[in-house]
Amino acid sequence: MANLSIAPTAISPRTAVAISGFVDHHTHKPVPRPGPRGRGRPGRGHRDGHAALVVSGRLASLGDGPLPARVRIYLASGLAERSAPAELDARRADCGPWVRLEGVKFYADGWLVPRTCAMCRNFDDEDSAGILFQDSSTLARRIEPFAATGWRIATHAIGDRAVEAVLDAYDLTWGRDRQAIAVARPRIEHGSVLPEELASRIAAMGVAVCIQPSFPVTDAAQVPVALGAGRAPAAYPWARLADRGVRLLAGSDFPIEVIEPLVGLARLVNGRSDRPAFADARTAAAQSRLPVRLAVELCTDQAAGQTFLSAGPVGVPTADLDLIEVRGTEPAPFS
Ligand SMILES: [Zn+2]
Repeated sequence: MANLSIAPTAISPRTAVAISGFVDHHTHKPVPRPGPRGRGRPGRGHRDGHAALVVSGRLASLGDGPLPARVRIYLASGLAERSAPAELDARRADCGPWVRLEGVKFYADGWLVPRTCAMCRNFDDEDSAGILFQDSSTLARRIEPFAATGWRIATHAIGDRAVEAVLDAYDLTWGRDRQAIAVARPRIEHGSVLPEELASRIAAMGVAVCIQPSFPVTDAAQVPVALGAGRAPAAYPWARLADRGVRLLAGSDFPIEVIEPLVGLARLVNGRSDRPAFADARTAAAQSRLPVRLAVELCTDQAAGQTFLSAGPVGVPTADLDLIEVRGTEPAPFS
């Protein structure tokens, strides 16, 4: 998994509005290529290991010269565990100005659509509560050596039981020390089903949640079927997380979903994007939409450089977000 700032081309920024560079905090391929739009989504069962292996194998060449985007890499936990700590530290120390080896990614459960995410109660349409890949003490034991040496921890957790297990693991790892957790900034990837009490616990612990603006669009029809009317409001409840002051990050989950940042931004604000080639009949529920100013804040980072747009997203009617075009970019390396 990687975080990257998008920088497609370097067109003259004249007549354009400059905003902070777009960032994508959860993508599986650091260098996007044109191709099929990742809409098939075979059960979201993509494998991190392969991407991380390829990325780590190419680290030397990635670090050789300027990239179209700066990249933060999260190693697949299984691969990181098979590497000698000294080798990981050596690689981390020598990544060049455009690449950072930042963290290690773990998995706590599966995915919503194939009903493999770990739920506290059975799915509404299946006699199953999904699959918890590992309990909290196992997860904490695996996280500890990496946390102790300053790797940022990110754990995939979609169902409420998985999120609970990850929060328990984070409490075990950092000894319930809020100060230590605030410094380590551990992440939950997706955090898709978050009932009230879990949202409050996440806010109180200071754990970051990395959300995917396209998920509630793609899953719009699946959520009520899988969770039932009672639990559907707990799916992708980002407006509530924002109200609670939860630390949010935004990422595409490319190539499972589209990587285009303006499409993600429109979906995050309007619940949909009608941009040609990306239009989708489905619309995200109201709880999964955020005010445009906050959405732009989550999708950009001043430190990543600048993106030049045909119009500023905060200055136009939200219905016009789909009309904005990228005019150019000016990526910045890590300082
Ligand atoms: Zn992912």
